[in-house]
Amino acid sequence: MTASAPITQDVMTIPRKLPEGPVNLVGLTRPQMREALIAAGTPEKQAKMRVGQIWQWIYHWGVRDFDAMTNLSKAYRAELAEKFVVAVPDVVTRQVSDDGTRKYLVRIAGGHEVEIVYIPEEDRGTLCVSSQVGCTLTCSFCHTGTQKLVRNLTAAEIVGQIMVARDDLGEWPEPGTGSGESGPRLLSNIVLMGMGEPLYNFDSVRDAMKIAMDSEGISLSRRRITLSTSGVVPEIARTADEIGCMLAISFHATTDEVRDKLVPINKRWNIEELLGALAAYPKASNSERITFEYVMLDGVNDSDDDARRLIDHIKRHKIPAKINLIPFNEWPGAPYKRSSNNRIRAFADIIYKAGYASPIRTPRGEDIMAACGQLKSATERARKSRAQIEAEVKAG
Ligand code: SAH
Ligand code: SF4
Repeated sequence: MTASAPITQDVMTIPRKLPEGPVNLVGLTRPQMREALIAAGTPEKQAKMRVGQIWQWIYHWGVRDFDAMTNLSKAYRAELAEKFVVAVPDVVTRQVSDDGTRKYLVRIAGGHEVEIVYIPEEDRGTLCVSSQVGCTLTCSFCHTGTQKLVRNLTAAEIVGQIMVARDDLGEWPEPGTGSGESGPRLLSNIVLMGMGEPLYNFDSVRDAMKIAMDSEGISLSRRRITLSTSGVVPEIARTADEIGCMLAISFHATTDEVRDKLVPINKRWNIEELLGALAAYPKASNSERITFEYVMLDGVNDSDDDARRLIDHIKRHKIPAKINLIPFNEWPGAPYKRSSNNRIRAFADIIYKAGYASPIRTPRGEDIMAACGQLKSATERARKSRAQIEAEVKAG
């Protein structure tokens, strides 16, 4: 297990002196943007108002060019253009699946690449956002977990993924009009289920999601944002307090013996500790249930006994829960197979009869390797061999 200590940053204090080169305004919290504007010469008295105006241009209307920010004076716009940029990740490739799923490979500072997936549905559209390049955790069924290179994404790079998708969907409202919250949105939901463990990049994820939720910004409801974690127990309560979004847990096994192998962070915080943190989750209620994600692996975690144990865990701890069964998405060299459809249905049936919703997640975008757990940037070729992965799984 290679879990590192949670990484934290002091987000409220940036010096009133600008670093060399233009500063990216994307991803700054409102207080941070205010500080940055003051450091660049904006009078303190005006700074709050300027933040409001610039914020609206950037996040409400998707404008990147200061010159188009027409409620600011020409001179001020020129000043801003000298000291700041409004930068989002560069799109390297864009693939569209037969089922309409879109996958973007974007490049960020340092030449790193991450993937973003947009999944259109009848009445909504979900963007699957990445929080890290790769992942320090090594869940044995997950393609991202085989990627060696890892760095945390900045808040700018996280919120930038949403902006890039809105660009591609052509979804920014006309400047001067509302934020578009009245009609249905193409991008209506966000899931932090792309590459990386969001709770190992807590502060940047929080700042980015605050911008996504800001009513003068992208203006998505907190109930339309779901953060998925493998079970970083000490950070779970903070998710409710500081972000307030919905929570999903990569549960995947019902005994510590099996979960230690599938989700190695279990060796640090085991099933009972995880269930304790979920039972105490401040936001959980019948209307805001915690999603238990459960990947169906043939002969590994998919028995009737597993289904019964899963229900028992949830009931024993009285956790308001829904269970999402995910047919395993295979990737080259993966050491597991997907459970048969009959097995998945039988498993779902036990859960359903126990009184829980048990939707089976339809794999989307498989033809472009965009399904859950298949993401891994194409340029990061330092992939472990199949033999290496199998050896690690056996060694547990
Ligand atoms: N690191 C976070 C979020 C990213 S993974 C987490 O682990 O929760 C998003 C979901 O996809 C998780 O539930 C993860 O366990 C699941 N997943 C990973 N690899 C998969 C695969 N090959 N097939 C199906 N689901 C997978
Ligand atoms: Fe990381 Fe999540 Fe994949 Fe595990 S399942 S390796 S925590 S991205």
